[in-house]
Amino acid sequence: MDGEPDLYIGGRWCHASDRGTRDVVNPADGSIAAVVDEATPDDATAAIAAARAAFDDGPWPDTAVAERAAVLDRIADLLQRDKEELSLLETRDTGKTLAESRIDIDDVTSVFRYYARLIAVAADRLVDVGDPAIVSRVVREPIGVCVLIAPWNYPLLQMSWKVAPALAAGCTMVAKPSEVTPLSTIAFTHLVEEAGVPAGVVNLVQGSGAVLGEALTTSADVDFISFTGGLATGATISRAAADNVTKVAVELGGKNPHIVFADVATDVAGHSDWDAAVDHVLTGVFLHSGQVCSAGTRLIVEESIADDFVSALAARAETIRMGDGMDPASETGPLVSEQHRAKVESYVQLGISEGAKLITGGARPSDPALADGSFYLPTIFDHCDRSMRIVQEETFGPILTVERFTDEAEAIRLGNDTEYGLAAGVRTSDPARGQRVARALRHGTVWLNDFGYYTAAAEWGGYGKSGNGRELGPSGLAEYQETKHIWHNTAPAPAGWFKG
Ligand code: NAD
Repeated sequence: MDGEPDLYIGGRWCHASDRGTRDVVNPADGSIAAVVDEATPDDATAAIAAARAAFDDGPWPDTAVAERAAVLDRIADLLQRDKEELSLLETRDTGKTLAESRIDIDDVTSVFRYYARLIAVAADRLVDVGDPAIVSRVVREPIGVCVLIAPWNYPLLQMSWKVAPALAAGCTMVAKPSEVTPLSTIAFTHLVEEAGVPAGVVNLVQGSGAVLGEALTTSADVDFISFTGGLATGATISRAAADNVTKVAVELGGKNPHIVFADVATDVAGHSDWDAAVDHVLTGVFLHSGQVCSAGTRLIVEESIADDFVSALAARAETIRMGDGMDPASETGPLVSEQHRAKVESYVQLGISEGAKLITGGARPSDPALADGSFYLPTIFDHCDRSMRIVQEETFGPILTVERFTDEAEAIRLGNDTEYGLAAGVRTSDPARGQRVARALRHGTVWLNDFGYYTAAAEWGGYGKSGNGRELGPSGLAEYQETKHIWHNTAPAPAGWFKG
Protein backbone atom coordinates (compact mmCIF):
# COMPACT_ATOMS: atom_id res chain seq x y z
CA MET A 1 0.00 0.00 0.00
CA ASP A 2 1.25 3.43 -0.93
CA GLY A 3 4.66 2.29 -2.15
CA GLU A 4 5.05 -0.81 0.03
CA PRO A 5 4.77 -4.10 -1.87
CA ASP A 6 1.28 -5.63 -1.67
CA LEU A 7 1.58 -9.00 -3.39
CA TYR A 8 2.63 -11.91 -1.20
CA ILE A 9 4.04 -14.83 -3.17
CA GLY A 10 6.02 -17.72 -1.74
CA GLY A 11 6.51 -15.93 1.58
CA ARG A 12 7.90 -12.76 -0.04
CA TRP A 13 6.24 -9.35 -0.39
CA CYS A 14 6.65 -8.02 -3.91
CA HIS A 15 5.40 -5.45 -6.38
CA ALA A 16 3.56 -6.40 -9.55
CA SER A 17 5.93 -7.78 -12.18
CA ASP A 18 5.04 -4.91 -14.54
CA ARG A 19 4.98 -2.41 -11.61
CA GLY A 20 1.29 -1.74 -12.30
CA THR A 21 -0.80 -0.13 -9.55
CA ARG A 22 -4.44 0.71 -8.89
CA ASP A 23 -6.02 3.66 -7.08
CA VAL A 24 -8.43 2.48 -4.41
CA VAL A 25 -11.27 4.98 -3.97
CA ASN A 26 -13.05 5.94 -0.75
CA PRO A 27 -16.71 5.96 -1.82
CA ALA A 28 -17.72 8.37 0.95
CA ASP A 29 -15.98 11.31 -0.71
CA GLY A 30 -14.37 10.08 -3.93
CA SER A 31 -10.84 10.53 -2.55
CA ILE A 32 -7.99 8.08 -3.19
CA ALA A 33 -7.82 5.86 -0.09
CA ALA A 34 -4.63 4.06 -1.18
CA VAL A 35 -2.56 3.03 -4.17
CA VAL A 36 -1.92 -0.74 -4.34
CA ASP A 37 0.00 -3.10 -6.57
CA GLU A 38 -2.07 -4.64 -9.36
CA ALA A 39 -0.99 -8.19 -10.17
CA THR A 40 -0.44 -9.50 -13.70
CA PRO A 41 -1.48 -12.97 -14.91
CA ASP A 42 2.20 -13.98 -14.56
CA ASP A 43 2.06 -12.97 -10.89
CA ALA A 44 -1.07 -15.08 -10.43
CA THR A 45 0.68 -18.05 -12.09
CA ALA A 46 3.70 -17.54 -9.80
CA ALA A 47 1.39 -17.48 -6.77
CA ILE A 48 -0.22 -20.78 -7.84
CA ALA A 49 3.25 -22.32 -8.35
CA ALA A 50 4.27 -21.20 -4.85
CA ALA A 51 1.10 -22.71 -3.37
CA ARG A 52 1.66 -25.94 -5.32
CA ALA A 53 5.25 -26.25 -4.07
CA ALA A 54 4.17 -25.51 -0.50
CA PHE A 55 1.51 -28.19 -0.72
CA ASP A 56 3.61 -30.86 -2.43
CA ASP A 57 6.86 -30.30 -0.53
CA GLY A 58 6.03 -28.12 2.42
CA PRO A 59 5.28 -29.00 6.00
CA TRP A 60 1.76 -27.52 6.25
CA PRO A 61 -0.46 -30.39 5.01
CA ASP A 62 1.30 -32.79 7.41
CA THR A 63 1.54 -30.40 10.32
CA ALA A 64 -0.22 -31.83 13.38
CA VAL A 65 -3.76 -30.54 13.72
CA ALA A 66 -3.04 -29.18 17.19
CA GLU A 67 -0.29 -27.04 15.70
CA ARG A 68 -2.46 -25.86 12.83
CA ALA A 69 -5.19 -25.00 15.33
CA ALA A 70 -2.68 -22.98 17.37
CA VAL A 71 -1.76 -20.97 14.28
CA LEU A 72 -5.45 -20.22 13.63
CA ASP A 73 -5.82 -19.07 17.23
CA ARG A 74 -2.76 -16.83 16.85
CA ILE A 75 -4.33 -15.25 13.76
CA ALA A 76 -7.51 -14.66 15.79
CA ASP A 77 -5.45 -12.98 18.55
CA LEU A 78 -3.73 -10.72 16.01
CA LEU A 79 -7.06 -9.80 14.42
CA GLN A 80 -8.26 -8.60 17.79
CA ARG A 81 -4.99 -6.77 18.47
CA ASP A 82 -5.37 -4.88 15.15
CA LYS A 83 -9.17 -4.69 15.18
CA GLU A 84 -9.34 -0.90 15.05
CA GLU A 85 -6.85 -0.54 12.21
CA LEU A 86 -8.56 -3.27 10.16
CA SER A 87 -11.98 -1.73 10.81
CA LEU A 88 -10.77 1.68 9.62
CA LEU A 89 -9.40 0.14 6.42
CA GLU A 90 -12.67 -1.69 5.80
CA THR A 91 -14.71 1.48 6.26
CA ARG A 92 -12.42 3.59 4.08
CA ASP A 93 -12.56 0.96 1.36
CA THR A 94 -16.24 -0.06 1.37
CA GLY A 95 -17.95 3.01 2.86
CA LYS A 96 -19.73 0.93 5.53
CA THR A 97 -20.02 2.41 8.99
CA LEU A 98 -17.20 1.87 11.44
CA ALA A 99 -19.64 0.14 13.79
CA GLU A 100 -20.37 -2.43 11.06
CA SER A 101 -16.69 -2.88 10.26
CA ARG A 102 -15.91 -3.60 13.91
CA ILE A 103 -18.63 -6.27 13.95
CA ASP A 104 -17.15 -7.72 10.77
CA ILE A 105 -13.68 -8.02 12.32
CA ASP A 106 -15.15 -9.72 15.40
CA ASP A 107 -16.96 -12.13 13.07
CA VAL A 108 -13.74 -12.80 11.15
CA THR A 109 -12.05 -13.59 14.47
CA SER A 110 -14.82 -15.98 15.46
CA VAL A 111 -14.44 -17.90 12.19
CA PHE A 112 -10.74 -18.56 12.93
CA ARG A 113 -11.58 -19.57 16.51
CA TYR A 114 -14.35 -21.90 15.31
CA TYR A 115 -12.18 -23.75 12.78
CA ALA A 116 -9.31 -23.98 15.30
CA ARG A 117 -11.73 -25.91 17.56
CA LEU A 118 -13.37 -27.94 14.80
CA ILE A 119 -10.17 -29.26 13.23
CA ALA A 120 -9.06 -30.49 16.62
CA VAL A 121 -12.08 -32.83 16.83
CA ALA A 122 -12.71 -33.61 13.17
CA ALA A 123 -11.89 -37.32 13.48
CA ASP A 124 -11.37 -40.24 11.11
CA ARG A 125 -14.14 -42.84 10.89
CA LEU A 126 -13.83 -46.61 11.29
CA VAL A 127 -16.26 -48.73 9.29
CA ASP A 128 -17.30 -52.23 10.45
CA VAL A 129 -17.24 -54.43 7.30
CA GLY A 130 -18.11 -57.58 9.22
CA ASP A 131 -14.62 -59.11 9.11
CA PRO A 132 -12.37 -58.54 12.13
CA ALA A 133 -9.29 -58.91 9.88
CA ILE A 134 -10.23 -55.86 7.85
CA VAL A 135 -9.60 -52.38 9.20
CA SER A 136 -11.69 -50.04 7.09
CA ARG A 137 -10.92 -46.42 7.81
CA VAL A 138 -12.23 -43.24 6.21
CA VAL A 139 -9.82 -40.32 6.51
CA ARG A 140 -10.02 -36.67 5.56
CA GLU A 141 -7.09 -35.08 3.78
CA PRO A 142 -6.47 -31.52 2.57
CA ILE A 143 -7.80 -31.06 -0.95
CA GLY A 144 -4.65 -29.27 -2.11
CA VAL A 145 -4.09 -25.89 -3.74
CA CYS A 146 -7.09 -23.57 -3.42
CA VAL A 147 -7.91 -20.34 -5.25
CA LEU A 148 -10.04 -18.08 -3.07
CA ILE A 149 -11.87 -15.23 -4.80
CA ALA A 150 -13.88 -12.72 -2.74
CA PRO A 151 -16.31 -9.84 -3.44
CA TRP A 152 -16.25 -6.22 -2.25
CA ASN A 153 -19.24 -5.98 0.08
CA TYR A 154 -17.73 -7.88 3.04
CA PRO A 155 -14.10 -8.01 1.92
CA LEU A 156 -12.27 -9.63 4.84
CA LEU A 157 -15.32 -11.43 6.20
CA GLN A 158 -15.97 -13.32 2.97
CA MET A 159 -12.26 -14.06 2.57
CA SER A 160 -12.05 -15.41 6.14
CA TRP A 161 -14.85 -17.93 5.44
CA LYS A 162 -12.40 -19.43 2.93
CA VAL A 163 -8.94 -18.89 4.44
CA ALA A 164 -9.82 -20.21 7.92
CA PRO A 165 -11.18 -23.65 6.87
CA ALA A 166 -8.52 -23.95 4.13
CA LEU A 167 -5.73 -23.40 6.67
CA ALA A 168 -7.42 -25.68 9.21
CA ALA A 169 -7.68 -28.47 6.62
CA GLY A 170 -3.97 -28.18 5.71
CA CYS A 171 -4.42 -26.65 2.26
CA THR A 172 -2.29 -24.03 0.54
CA MET A 173 -3.91 -21.14 -1.27
CA VAL A 174 -3.93 -18.07 -3.48
CA ALA A 175 -6.28 -15.39 -2.18
CA LYS A 176 -7.67 -12.74 -4.50
CA PRO A 177 -9.79 -10.04 -2.89
CA SER A 178 -11.96 -7.76 -5.00
CA GLU A 179 -9.89 -5.13 -6.80
CA VAL A 180 -12.41 -2.59 -5.47
CA THR A 181 -11.66 -3.38 -1.80
CA PRO A 182 -8.25 -5.05 -1.29
CA LEU A 183 -6.99 -3.08 1.73
CA SER A 184 -8.13 -5.23 4.67
CA THR A 185 -6.97 -8.45 2.98
CA ILE A 186 -3.49 -6.99 2.43
CA ALA A 187 -3.29 -6.01 6.13
CA PHE A 188 -4.65 -9.43 7.13
CA THR A 189 -1.99 -11.24 5.09
CA HIS A 190 0.67 -9.45 7.14
CA LEU A 191 -0.97 -10.97 10.22
CA VAL A 192 -0.92 -14.43 8.62
CA GLU A 193 2.83 -14.01 8.13
CA GLU A 194 3.28 -12.78 11.71
CA ALA A 195 1.30 -15.75 13.04
CA GLY A 196 3.93 -18.09 11.59
CA VAL A 197 2.12 -19.61 8.62
CA PRO A 198 4.93 -21.16 6.53
CA ALA A 199 6.02 -19.51 3.26
CA GLY A 200 3.89 -20.38 0.23
CA VAL A 201 0.86 -21.55 2.24
CA VAL A 202 -1.05 -18.28 1.86
CA ASN A 203 -0.33 -16.23 -1.25
CA LEU A 204 -2.00 -12.95 -2.12
CA VAL A 205 -2.61 -11.33 -5.48
CA GLN A 206 -4.96 -8.49 -6.13
CA GLY A 207 -6.21 -7.06 -9.36
CA SER A 208 -8.97 -7.19 -11.91
CA GLY A 209 -10.89 -10.45 -12.09
CA ALA A 210 -11.21 -10.08 -15.84
CA VAL A 211 -7.41 -9.87 -16.18
CA LEU A 212 -6.39 -12.49 -13.60
CA GLY A 213 -9.38 -14.81 -14.01
CA GLU A 214 -7.99 -17.09 -16.69
CA ALA A 215 -4.66 -17.66 -14.91
CA LEU A 216 -6.45 -18.36 -11.62
CA THR A 217 -9.23 -20.60 -12.89
CA THR A 218 -7.76 -22.68 -15.72
CA SER A 219 -4.56 -23.92 -14.07
CA ALA A 220 -4.19 -27.69 -13.73
CA ASP A 221 -2.17 -27.00 -10.57
CA VAL A 222 -5.30 -25.83 -8.74
CA ASP A 223 -7.44 -28.40 -6.91
CA PHE A 224 -10.31 -26.25 -5.68
CA ILE A 225 -11.73 -22.82 -6.47
CA SER A 226 -13.93 -21.16 -3.88
CA PHE A 227 -15.68 -18.10 -5.26
CA THR A 228 -18.06 -15.55 -3.78
CA GLY A 229 -19.52 -12.92 -6.07
CA GLY A 230 -22.07 -12.36 -8.79
CA LEU A 231 -24.02 -15.00 -10.73
CA ALA A 232 -22.47 -14.22 -14.13
CA THR A 233 -18.91 -14.41 -12.75
CA GLY A 234 -19.72 -17.64 -10.91
CA ALA A 235 -20.94 -19.22 -14.14
CA THR A 236 -17.84 -18.01 -16.04
CA ILE A 237 -15.53 -19.50 -13.40
CA SER A 238 -17.42 -22.80 -13.35
CA ARG A 239 -17.03 -23.09 -17.13
CA ALA A 240 -13.35 -22.11 -17.01
CA ALA A 241 -12.60 -24.78 -14.41
CA ALA A 242 -14.48 -27.54 -16.20
CA ASP A 243 -11.71 -28.57 -18.62
CA ASN A 244 -9.50 -29.62 -15.72
CA VAL A 245 -12.49 -30.98 -13.78
CA THR A 246 -11.39 -28.69 -10.97
CA LYS A 247 -13.80 -28.64 -8.06
CA VAL A 248 -15.61 -25.28 -7.78
CA ALA A 249 -17.86 -23.92 -5.03
CA VAL A 250 -19.74 -20.71 -5.77
CA GLU A 251 -21.59 -18.42 -3.36
CA LEU A 252 -23.62 -16.07 -5.53
CA GLY A 253 -26.33 -13.48 -5.31
CA GLY A 254 -29.79 -13.45 -3.82
CA LYS A 255 -33.23 -11.93 -4.26
CA ASN A 256 -34.40 -12.67 -0.81
CA PRO A 257 -38.06 -12.67 0.26
CA HIS A 258 -39.17 -11.37 3.63
CA ILE A 259 -42.67 -12.71 4.26
CA VAL A 260 -44.82 -10.85 6.78
CA PHE A 261 -48.13 -12.36 8.00
CA ALA A 262 -50.92 -10.11 9.29
CA ASP A 263 -50.77 -11.72 12.74
CA VAL A 264 -47.70 -9.60 13.57
CA ALA A 265 -50.25 -6.83 14.17
CA THR A 266 -52.32 -8.89 16.62
CA ASP A 267 -52.31 -7.43 20.09
CA VAL A 268 -51.77 -10.17 22.69
CA ALA A 269 -51.88 -8.90 26.27
CA GLY A 270 -50.86 -5.39 25.23
CA HIS A 271 -48.01 -6.57 23.03
CA SER A 272 -47.68 -7.07 19.28
CA ASP A 273 -44.74 -7.92 17.02
CA TRP A 274 -45.49 -4.97 14.73
CA ASP A 275 -42.59 -2.68 15.69
CA ALA A 276 -40.04 -5.49 15.58
CA ALA A 277 -41.37 -6.64 12.20
CA VAL A 278 -41.13 -3.15 10.71
CA ASP A 279 -37.67 -2.72 12.19
CA HIS A 280 -36.34 -6.05 10.92
CA VAL A 281 -37.70 -5.55 7.40
CA LEU A 282 -36.11 -2.09 7.34
CA THR A 283 -32.74 -3.29 8.65
CA GLY A 284 -32.85 -6.40 6.48
CA VAL A 285 -32.97 -4.38 3.28
CA PHE A 286 -31.22 -1.09 4.05
CA LEU A 287 -28.24 -2.20 6.16
CA HIS A 288 -25.00 -1.40 4.29
CA SER A 289 -27.20 0.39 1.74
CA GLY A 290 -28.56 -2.94 0.52
CA GLN A 291 -25.16 -4.24 -0.57
CA VAL A 292 -25.67 -7.55 1.20
CA CYS A 293 -26.12 -10.85 -0.65
CA SER A 294 -28.79 -11.89 1.85
CA ALA A 295 -30.57 -8.50 1.99
CA GLY A 296 -34.34 -8.90 2.30
CA THR A 297 -35.14 -6.97 -0.85
CA ARG A 298 -38.57 -8.50 -1.55
CA LEU A 299 -41.21 -7.69 1.04
CA ILE A 300 -44.10 -10.14 0.65
CA VAL A 301 -46.78 -8.87 2.98
CA GLU A 302 -50.34 -10.02 3.75
CA GLU A 303 -52.85 -7.82 1.95
CA SER A 304 -54.85 -6.86 5.04
CA ILE A 305 -51.91 -5.04 6.67
CA ALA A 306 -49.96 -4.07 3.55
CA ASP A 307 -50.88 -0.37 3.34
CA ASP A 308 -50.17 0.30 7.01
CA PHE A 309 -47.00 -1.75 6.99
CA VAL A 310 -45.56 0.01 3.93
CA SER A 311 -46.44 3.44 5.41
CA ALA A 312 -44.66 2.56 8.64
CA LEU A 313 -41.62 1.35 6.70
CA ALA A 314 -41.47 4.45 4.53
CA ALA A 315 -41.64 6.71 7.58
CA ARG A 316 -38.70 4.87 9.14
CA ALA A 317 -36.74 4.75 5.86
CA GLU A 318 -36.93 8.53 5.57
CA THR A 319 -35.20 8.95 8.94
CA ILE A 320 -32.15 6.80 8.14
CA ARG A 321 -29.06 8.96 8.62
CA MET A 322 -26.65 8.59 5.70
CA GLY A 323 -23.08 9.76 5.90
CA ASP A 324 -19.39 8.96 5.91
CA GLY A 325 -18.91 5.66 7.70
CA MET A 326 -16.19 7.29 9.83
CA ASP A 327 -18.80 9.59 11.40
CA PRO A 328 -20.35 7.84 14.43
CA ALA A 329 -23.66 9.57 13.64
CA SER A 330 -23.96 7.78 10.30
CA GLU A 331 -26.35 4.83 10.21
CA THR A 332 -25.50 3.82 6.67
CA GLY A 333 -22.82 4.74 4.16
CA PRO A 334 -22.57 5.20 0.41
CA LEU A 335 -22.71 2.66 -2.36
CA VAL A 336 -19.29 1.19 -3.09
CA SER A 337 -18.60 3.21 -6.27
CA GLU A 338 -20.00 5.67 -8.78
CA GLN A 339 -20.27 2.82 -11.25
CA HIS A 340 -22.36 0.78 -8.83
CA ARG A 341 -24.62 3.76 -8.04
CA ALA A 342 -25.25 4.17 -11.77
CA LYS A 343 -26.40 0.51 -11.87
CA VAL A 344 -28.75 1.05 -8.91
CA GLU A 345 -30.14 4.21 -10.53
CA SER A 346 -30.85 2.33 -13.74
CA TYR A 347 -32.82 -0.25 -11.73
CA VAL A 348 -34.91 2.53 -10.18
CA GLN A 349 -35.71 3.89 -13.64
CA LEU A 350 -36.57 0.37 -14.74
CA GLY A 351 -38.93 -0.08 -11.77
CA ILE A 352 -40.74 3.14 -12.64
CA SER A 353 -41.04 2.17 -16.29
CA GLU A 354 -42.34 -1.29 -15.30
CA GLY A 355 -45.19 0.36 -13.39
CA ALA A 356 -44.06 -0.14 -9.78
CA LYS A 357 -45.27 2.65 -7.46
CA LEU A 358 -42.41 4.68 -5.99
CA ILE A 359 -43.22 5.31 -2.32
CA THR A 360 -40.01 6.91 -1.10
CA GLY A 361 -36.43 7.49 -2.23
CA GLY A 362 -35.64 7.03 -5.89
CA ALA A 363 -32.99 9.77 -5.82
CA ARG A 364 -29.60 10.85 -4.53
CA PRO A 365 -29.71 12.65 -1.19
CA SER A 366 -29.95 16.43 -1.47
CA ASP A 367 -27.56 17.10 1.45
CA PRO A 368 -24.59 18.98 -0.10
CA ALA A 369 -22.26 17.32 2.44
CA LEU A 370 -22.88 14.01 0.65
CA ALA A 371 -22.42 15.34 -2.88
CA ASP A 372 -18.93 13.88 -3.43
CA GLY A 373 -19.82 10.36 -2.25
CA SER A 374 -21.84 7.72 -4.09
CA PHE A 375 -24.86 7.90 -1.78
CA TYR A 376 -28.39 6.82 -2.70
CA LEU A 377 -31.60 7.18 -0.72
CA PRO A 378 -33.45 4.15 0.71
CA THR A 379 -36.07 3.39 -1.93
CA ILE A 380 -39.39 1.55 -1.67
CA PHE A 381 -41.54 0.40 -4.59
CA ASP A 382 -45.08 -0.81 -3.82
CA HIS A 383 -47.51 -2.79 -6.00
CA CYS A 384 -44.81 -4.90 -7.60
CA ASP A 385 -45.24 -8.31 -9.16
CA ARG A 386 -43.10 -11.17 -10.39
CA SER A 387 -43.25 -10.06 -14.03
CA MET A 388 -41.03 -7.08 -13.16
CA ARG A 389 -37.27 -7.35 -13.54
CA ILE A 390 -36.90 -5.20 -10.45
CA VAL A 391 -38.50 -8.07 -8.50
CA GLN A 392 -36.48 -10.82 -10.19
CA GLU A 393 -32.96 -9.38 -10.41
CA GLU A 394 -30.47 -8.56 -7.71
CA THR A 395 -30.06 -4.76 -7.65
CA PHE A 396 -27.53 -4.88 -4.80
CA GLY A 397 -28.67 -1.47 -3.64
CA PRO A 398 -31.14 0.13 -1.19
CA ILE A 399 -34.27 -0.90 -3.09
CA LEU A 400 -37.24 -2.71 -1.52
CA THR A 401 -40.02 -4.09 -3.68
CA VAL A 402 -43.42 -4.92 -2.17
CA GLU A 403 -45.71 -7.77 -3.23
CA ARG A 404 -48.93 -8.75 -1.47
CA PHE A 405 -50.52 -12.14 -0.67
CA THR A 406 -53.80 -13.37 0.70
CA ASP A 407 -53.02 -16.83 2.13
CA GLU A 408 -50.13 -18.98 3.32
CA ALA A 409 -49.89 -21.04 0.14
CA GLU A 410 -49.57 -17.91 -1.96
CA ALA A 411 -46.91 -16.52 0.38
CA ILE A 412 -44.85 -19.71 -0.04
CA ARG A 413 -45.35 -19.74 -3.79
CA LEU A 414 -44.17 -16.13 -4.10
CA GLY A 415 -41.26 -16.73 -1.73
CA ASN A 416 -40.04 -19.61 -3.88
CA ASP A 417 -40.73 -17.83 -7.16
CA THR A 418 -37.14 -16.75 -7.77
CA GLU A 419 -34.17 -18.27 -9.57
CA TYR A 420 -32.11 -17.53 -6.47
CA GLY A 421 -32.37 -19.24 -3.08
CA LEU A 422 -29.93 -17.72 -0.63
CA ALA A 423 -32.00 -16.50 2.31
CA ALA A 424 -35.53 -15.69 3.40
CA GLY A 425 -37.34 -14.20 6.38
CA VAL A 426 -40.71 -15.17 7.84
CA ARG A 427 -42.61 -13.08 10.39
CA THR A 428 -45.58 -14.54 12.19
CA SER A 429 -46.78 -14.86 15.76
CA ASP A 430 -47.97 -18.42 15.01
CA PRO A 431 -45.00 -20.76 15.70
CA ALA A 432 -46.51 -23.74 13.87
CA ARG A 433 -47.06 -21.66 10.75
CA GLY A 434 -43.56 -20.27 11.08
CA GLN A 435 -42.03 -23.75 11.07
CA ARG A 436 -44.26 -24.89 8.17
CA VAL A 437 -43.32 -21.94 5.99
CA ALA A 438 -39.63 -22.11 6.93
CA ARG A 439 -39.51 -25.76 5.80
CA ALA A 440 -41.39 -25.02 2.58
CA LEU A 441 -39.05 -22.23 1.45
CA ARG A 442 -36.26 -23.30 -0.93
CA HIS A 443 -33.56 -21.05 0.53
CA GLY A 444 -30.26 -21.84 2.27
CA THR A 445 -31.04 -19.79 5.37
CA VAL A 446 -34.48 -18.96 6.78
CA TRP A 447 -34.87 -16.45 9.60
CA LEU A 448 -38.03 -16.81 11.62
CA ASN A 449 -38.96 -13.57 13.43
CA ASP A 450 -35.45 -12.27 12.95
CA PHE A 451 -33.27 -11.30 10.01
CA GLY A 452 -29.64 -11.26 8.93
CA TYR A 453 -27.90 -13.23 11.65
CA TYR A 454 -25.48 -16.08 11.15
CA THR A 455 -22.92 -17.98 13.18
CA ALA A 456 -19.61 -19.57 12.23
CA ALA A 457 -20.90 -22.96 13.42
CA ALA A 458 -23.92 -23.11 11.05
CA GLU A 459 -23.74 -23.64 7.30
CA TRP A 460 -24.23 -20.77 4.83
CA GLY A 461 -25.02 -21.12 1.15
CA GLY A 462 -27.64 -21.09 -1.54
CA TYR A 463 -30.25 -23.16 -3.31
CA GLY A 464 -30.82 -22.62 -7.03
CA LYS A 465 -28.68 -19.98 -8.71
CA SER A 466 -27.47 -18.64 -5.37
CA GLY A 467 -24.73 -21.19 -5.66
CA ASN A 468 -23.52 -24.60 -4.63
CA GLY A 469 -21.44 -25.90 -1.77
CA ARG A 470 -21.56 -24.48 1.73
CA GLU A 471 -19.38 -22.21 3.80
CA LEU A 472 -19.11 -22.17 7.60
CA GLY A 473 -20.02 -25.06 9.89
CA PRO A 474 -18.61 -28.57 9.40
CA SER A 475 -19.60 -28.53 5.69
CA GLY A 476 -17.46 -25.42 5.23
CA LEU A 477 -14.43 -27.44 6.36
CA ALA A 478 -15.38 -30.50 4.29
CA GLU A 479 -15.20 -28.38 1.11
CA TYR A 480 -11.43 -28.16 1.68
CA GLN A 481 -10.96 -31.88 2.27
CA GLU A 482 -10.73 -35.00 0.16
CA THR A 483 -12.19 -38.17 1.61
CA LYS A 484 -10.11 -41.34 1.38
CA HIS A 485 -11.12 -44.88 2.26
CA ILE A 486 -8.22 -47.07 3.47
CA TRP A 487 -9.03 -50.80 3.44
CA HIS A 488 -6.43 -52.70 5.45
CA ASN A 489 -6.40 -56.49 5.41
CA THR A 490 -4.48 -57.51 8.52
CA ALA A 491 -4.59 -61.24 7.68
CA PRO A 492 -4.13 -61.52 3.89
CA ALA A 493 -4.90 -64.90 2.22
CA PRO A 494 -5.55 -65.81 -1.45
CA ALA A 495 -8.94 -64.57 -2.61
CA GLY A 496 -9.70 -67.96 -4.23
CA TRP A 497 -11.68 -66.42 -7.10
CA PHE A 498 -9.61 -67.85 -9.96
CA LYS A 499 -9.04 -71.55 -9.38
CA GLY A 500 -6.28 -72.37 -11.95
P1 NAD B 1 -18.16 -9.99 -8.92
O1 NAD B 1 -18.67 -11.28 -9.42
O2 NAD B 1 -18.11 -8.83 -9.85
O3 NAD B 1 -16.65 -10.14 -8.38
C1 NAD B 1 -16.33 -11.05 -7.35
C2 NAD B 1 -14.86 -11.40 -7.45
O4 NAD B 1 -14.64 -12.12 -8.65
C3 NAD B 1 -13.92 -10.20 -7.49
O5 NAD B 1 -12.77 -10.49 -6.75
C4 NAD B 1 -13.60 -10.09 -8.97
O6 NAD B 1 -12.37 -9.46 -9.23
C5 NAD B 1 -13.55 -11.55 -9.36
N1 NAD B 1 -13.75 -11.83 -10.78
C6 NAD B 1 -14.45 -11.12 -11.69
N2 NAD B 1 -14.38 -11.72 -12.90
C7 NAD B 1 -13.64 -12.85 -12.73
C8 NAD B 1 -13.23 -13.90 -13.60
N3 NAD B 1 -13.59 -13.94 -14.89
N4 NAD B 1 -12.48 -14.89 -13.10
C9 NAD B 1 -12.12 -14.89 -11.80
N5 NAD B 1 -12.48 -13.92 -10.93
C10 NAD B 1 -13.23 -12.91 -11.39
O7 NAD B 1 -18.99 -9.66 -7.61
P2 NAD B 1 -18.92 -8.35 -6.72
O8 NAD B 1 -19.58 -7.24 -7.47
O9 NAD B 1 -17.54 -8.16 -6.21
O10 NAD B 1 -19.81 -8.79 -5.46
C11 NAD B 1 -21.18 -8.67 -5.43
C12 NAD B 1 -21.84 -10.00 -5.63
O11 NAD B 1 -21.38 -10.92 -4.67
C13 NAD B 1 -23.34 -9.94 -5.45
O12 NAD B 1 -23.98 -10.67 -6.45
C14 NAD B 1 -23.56 -10.61 -4.09
O13 NAD B 1 -24.83 -11.16 -3.93
C15 NAD B 1 -22.49 -11.63 -4.11
N6 NAD B 1 -22.19 -12.09 -2.75
C16 NAD B 1 -22.63 -13.34 -2.38
C17 NAD B 1 -22.40 -13.79 -1.08
C18 NAD B 1 -22.87 -15.15 -0.63
O14 NAD B 1 -22.54 -15.54 0.47
N7 NAD B 1 -23.65 -15.87 -1.42
C19 NAD B 1 -21.72 -12.97 -0.18
C20 NAD B 1 -21.29 -11.72 -0.59
C21 NAD B 1 -21.53 -11.29 -1.89
